[in-house]
Amino acid sequence: MSTIEQNLQAVRRSIAQAADQAQRPAADVMLLAVSKTFGADAVLAAADAGQTAFGENYLQEALDKIAAVQAAQPDAGLEWHFIGPIQSNKTRPITEHFDWVHTVEREKIAVRLSEQRPAELPELNICLQVNISGEASKSGVAPADLPALAHAVAQLPRLRLRGLMAIPEPETDPARQRAAFAQLRQLFQQLRDGGLALDTLSMGMSADLQAAVLEGATIVRVGSAIFGSRNYS
Ligand SMILES: *Cc1c(COP(=O)(O)O)cnc(C)c1O
Repeated sequence: MSTIEQNLQAVRRSIAQAADQAQRPAADVMLLAVSKTFGADAVLAAADAGQTAFGENYLQEALDKIAAVQAAQPDAGLEWHFIGPIQSNKTRPITEHFDWVHTVEREKIAVRLSEQRPAELPELNICLQVNISGEASKSGVAPADLPALAHAVAQLPRLRLRGLMAIPEPETDPARQRAAFAQLRQLFQQLRDGGLALDTLSMGMSADLQAAVLEGATIVRVGSAIFGSRNYS
């Protein structure tokens, strides 16, 4: 068994344990394998081990990798999620090549993703990134501005607003990890109470995925626990 396959099994077990503890079906939690900085070979190894959804942060790297994976395995049927910062002049390749975008924080970006979504593709799945840590430097829409953004994005014809995403400040204490995720879940619940049909909470990474599942995550975004530590050089 490859290391990636072993790691995937361990991550799936960890998700299943937390889901069990939360009395949730483990099948309600999608594992997104974050393959940034790793090559097409790593994606193909994970796909061989049954992984179908992959997350990428850097657009050019992602486009090259998607093309390489498609050339090697045209029928793999993989799903690609964009989870990095979005520059407004890069919306077209994002909306042409991805199935999901988790990092929408401005209406202008959403409008462009909608207008540029190719007619032959289904609606682009969208999560709004929320700044739950409250620091000026951090990305994400402020909680106070979230309802207006969500209702605006929900109107756009070629997008399907699925839910919310956050990257909380790193915390080692499980109770603090959970408190941050609980905040996002409450915002999600408020939007649903306000009439939006949302079904997705994208939260939790390698170091805090169990806390996220305990607080209701439906997508966990896991990189290093699957592929190993990243080398950015
Ligand atoms: C890199 C990244 C991840 C994965 O982080 P790990 O700690 O390696 O699991 C998840 N989400 C986002 C937005 C990322 O940029």
